[in-house]
Amino acid sequence: MAHEPERMCIGCRKKSTKKDLIRLVKGENEIILDKKGNALARGVYICKSKECILLARKKKALSRNFKQSVQDSVYDLLIKELENG
Ligand SMILES: [Zn+2]
Repeated sequence: MAHEPERMCIGCRKKSTKKDLIRLVKGENEIILDKKGNALARGVYICKSKECILLARKKKALSRNFKQSVQDSVYDLLIKELENG
């Protein structure tokens, strides 16, 4: 079996394989969830964990990673997405 590449979570900064992470990419005007994981844009990853999302929000990790201000609503959206499975 091929080795699966690991990506770092912007919340806890631990590495996981893509299936355990949510990918976010920079859209034209906003940060969007890349559910299929193949959008052609710079992406960041976050664990499928509410703790990590809250941690990332506290650290303003998305703003820092994308070098633009990111609304807290993006984190709320992530949590909602997680809760909806
Ligand atoms: Zn994490």
